[in-house]
Order: sequence, then structure tokens, then C-alpha cells
Amino acid sequence: MQTVDVSSHEEHLSLAEQWVARNYNPLPVVIASAHGAWVVDVAGRRYLDALAGYSALNFGHLHPALVAAAQQQLGRLTLTSRAFHSDQLAPFCRDLAELAGKELVLPMNTGAEAVETAIKTARRWGYLVKGVPDGQARIIVMGGNFHGRTTTIVSFSDDPLAHDHYGPYTPGFDLVPYGDIAAIEAAITDDTVAVLLEPIQGEGGVVIPPAGFLRQVRELTTRRGILMVADEIQSGLGRTGTTFACDLEDVVPDIYILGKALGGGIVPVSAVVADADVLGVITPGSHGSTFGGNPLAAAIGRAVVSLLATGEYQERAARLGKVLQDGLESLVGRGVERVRVRGLWAGIDVDPALASGREICERLLVEGVLAKDTHGSTLRLAPPLVIEEGEVELLVDSLARTLR
Ligand SMILES: *Cc1c(COP(=O)(O)O)cnc(C)c1O
Repeated sequence: MQTVDVSSHEEHLSLAEQWVARNYNPLPVVIASAHGAWVVDVAGRRYLDALAGYSALNFGHLHPALVAAAQQQLGRLTLTSRAFHSDQLAPFCRDLAELAGKELVLPMNTGAEAVETAIKTARRWGYLVKGVPDGQARIIVMGGNFHGRTTTIVSFSDDPLAHDHYGPYTPGFDLVPYGDIAAIEAAITDDTVAVLLEPIQGEGGVVIPPAGFLRQVRELTTRRGILMVADEIQSGLGRTGTTFACDLEDVVPDIYILGKALGGGIVPVSAVVADADVLGVITPGSHGSTFGGNPLAAAIGRAVVSLLATGEYQERAARLGKVLQDGLESLVGRGVERVRVRGLWAGIDVDPALASGREICERLLVEGVLAKDTHGSTLRLAPPLVIEEGEVELLVDSLARTLR
């Protein structure tokens, strides 16, 4: 039997108001349980989850294979630290490396930590392999980026909300407009070690770069002898209808940064995945994490990789993404200005005269759909990849009603 939380919806909201720091402004729904693409609130009302934990729940809530992997591991071993081997870590790293077609995996926990790890790897590679004078390395980053919340990462965010009043900031980053290959080329100096980008910008509003951009970045970084680093924390692991968003242009970056769905919506699991000529610059003691690669995380991460290895979820995302795209495109001119869709991932620019993104999300909540605005009047949809075709149609119909 499931335990039922007897506290009322209102009581929860007032508790949150009093005790939870205000770094988020959640929609007024209090979730108590969930399964697959659906969540249930404390009053027993069901909602279709069209956010999926910002893609951390690509396989839905409580996927049986992932819960089984977690439960099995919970009864055996949860933490060793990296001072010792566990019987879970190497198999996880092997399977993830094989999925990505790379040689090495460096496991961390949160996405931001994996981005930090990639930045440290790129800088160290710059000094030890490329021969950049120590302390001089520069990394080219994109306007509109979102890579997490650490002090170094927010240093190169151009979103004032994420960036302001957290200085002094970490130097060494050059910001160029997203999708502008000429600007990247112009920003490269002898000290440049890497280009860091999201193949599709999730927090930016599911912003898709011009066709061919990722290929151009690959060609340019190879030609100039610098690393291409793809933050696939939100775009990767099936979301776009391919294992990685880079696959949409048949591009293989030097470094993949993964997170979110890698933990199966159960625990935070992130990783940097690259070949030995890059990731090999990290030597014992030069980087680490107490919890990174712990047995519970590794067991769950490995189960996630085995779901992706079948190709079933990528295929679902591609097929149902087409249904989502057709549905959303039918709303253009009817309250929607523009839509950007890749797989089961959509950015929707609502006519600002009609409503803000937040207002649309509040109306969707009344319709029984959970979604999240990004900026202004832009809405992001990222339902779990286990969603059914009829539920995609329900999602589009619900959105259509909120636009009337
Ligand atoms: C969510 C996200 C991160 C940060 O991940 P956390 O686990 O929240 O630290 C980094 N990059 C991208 C592209 C993301 O979407």
C-alpha cells in the first residue's frame, strides 16, 4: 500500500513558503506519487508530466528496470568511495563508453560538476598536450548558454538572473553568439583550448542552431587543434530521437558531458566521456568526488545505458516527436508564434500579447498538464520518452485550450 500524505495542499504550500529558500518559484502543485508519464498530487489529482524533471526523467517515473536495479543494489552495497574499487563502476563505465563510442568515463554526480570536470580537463589538456602557457587557457562559450550553477559556470552566463551578484568571476571564457561559426573562428587565439556548447540549448528555450552548425564546429575545432566539448546533459540520452543531439548531424565531439537522465530520475549521476588522449590528462589525485561513481549510481547508470542500447527509446522519441511537431505546428498562428521541435523536445514561443509562459503553465496545470516556461513567453515541453501517442495528442489539445 502506498502511504497517503494527509496534509492538505494549502498546508504544504504554506510550509514551503515558511521553510524552503526561494531559489525556485514552483507551480502550485504538490506531488505525492508518480508512475510513467503521470504524477499524482496530495489531493489525488493526476497530471501528465510534460517536463520530466528537465529531462532527468527521460524513462518516466519509477521505470521498473531502473527501480529494480536500484533496489537490488540497495540491498548489496551503496558506497565505497573511490579509494577502493566496486564491482559496479567499471562495468558502468565500459557500457557508457561503448554507447558513446569513446574510451574513458569520468563519473561525477550533478551536471554542473561534470561541466566543471570538462572545463578542468580541457584546460589541463591545453597545458599538458597543446602547450598553452600555464594559467592562460581560454574556452569559447555560446550566448544564451546554460551549463549549471557553480561560480565558474555562472561566470560565463549571459543570463543576468543566473550571473549577477555572484562575483568575483572566473576569467578565461570568450562568449560568442550561438550558431555563429564565423564568430567562433574569430575568437580563437593561440591560448584557446576548447569550444563548449549545447548542441541544442535547453534552458535557452530549445534553441536549435542553424543546420550544419555542429558540423562546422567539428571541422573548425579539428582544423585549429582545439577540443569540441558538447554539453549533452539535457539534449542527450534519447531526448532528440537519437542517443546524442550531436548524432543529428553525425558529429562526434571530443568530450561528451552527460547527466540528468543518466541517473534514471533516481539519483544524480553525471559523467564526462572522452578518449584517452583527452581524458588521460586527469591523473590520480588531480580531480575527484566522494560520491562520483558510487555503486548505487553506477548500477542505475548502467541500467539506463542498457535501456538506451536497445534503441527503443530513441525510436519512440523520433516517432512520437513527429506527432508532437505536427500538433504544435498546427497551433502556429493560433496563439503560438513559433515552435522548435527535435524528438520529444519542444520550445514554443507563445504570442506575448496573449500570455506569459508562466500564465500558460498555470492554465496547463488546470488542464492537468505539468510544463515549465523558460524565458518570457517561451514554453518548454519535454515529456518522458515513455509517453504514449494518445497522451501526446492530449498534451497538444490541452495546450490548444489554454491558448483560446
Ligand atoms: C541541467 C543542466 C546542467 C546542470 O545540471 P545540474 O545537475 O542541475 O547541475 C548543465 N548543462 C545543461 C545543458 C543542463 O541542462
